[in-house]
Amino acid sequence: MEGTQEVKDGAGRESSAGDAISTVLLVFAMQAEAMPLVQTLNLTEDDEPSIFPKALPWKKYSGTHEGLTVHVVVPGKDLKLGVDSVGTVPVSMLTYASIVSLHPDLIINAGTAGGFRAKGAAIGDVFVATQFANHDRRIPVPVFDEYGIGTLAATPIPNLVKALELKEGKLSTGNSLDMTPQDEEIIKANDATIKDMEGAAVAYVANLLAVPLIAMKAVTDIVDGDKPTVEEFLGNMSRAAAALSATIPRVLEYVNAKSISNL
Ligand code: SAH
Repeated sequence: MEGTQEVKDGAGRESSAGDAISTVLLVFAMQAEAMPLVQTLNLTEDDEPSIFPKALPWKKYSGTHEGLTVHVVVPGKDLKLGVDSVGTVPVSMLTYASIVSLHPDLIINAGTAGGFRAKGAAIGDVFVATQFANHDRRIPVPVFDEYGIGTLAATPIPNLVKALELKEGKLSTGNSLDMTPQDEEIIKANDATIKDMEGAAVAYVANLLAVPLIAMKAVTDIVDGDKPTVEEFLGNMSRAAAALSATIPRVLEYVNAKSISNL
């Protein structure tokens, strides 16, 4: 019998990993990161009524790709300022609500990230996160310090990484695009190759609800390089989104009908 292996989540609970993947939830922070993929997969935006409360800016695009049910969700534009609702809070609420409503077999948190050249990152690379941690939650009290960092291992996907020749690295998350010296110290302690503003929050929710998670991040800027982060981010954003929309369909085709334990 195939794929009935038991796996343990971050809390040590056992769950059956035997079921074939038929529904995938893709969580993006920015509309511009998601739209090339929405177009590539020909997904359509939800008609009313939305699965989300009416007042929210959250958006969902759905469809099928080679028989696989695919949902893309984004937290949408801030109600007051009209910019993308980046950062950990919107994406964790969105991930929670989407899991509860859509029951995905697998979540993919896709987006952009800063990369560390010293760890082998280059602009346009798409990395799979092997570990999630936070770098802006400093709580210098025994055990709470570790809770603040909140390290979680990613769902192992060795066959997928090998088949698609993807780069792997640890991800560190914080709510700022820039990096203070204290952040830098913790990012180094987290052994991170890439740095973003959402990954560890999605991992927290996915782990709470025992849903497998893959995080795929395209590098828009080199953190330990000589260019200002904002300029570099804006200059490479569309290249990164294109890299994601090229890679993610291949990932969907690979995971389709497989069990998590075979990825
Ligand atoms: N200046 C941007 C703001 C987006 S914030 C704009 O004008 O649209 C950056 C987004 O990209 C976040 O969702 C974050 O996860 C990701 N990101 C890219 N590079 C990053 C970096 N160096 N540090 C942290 N997050 C980064």
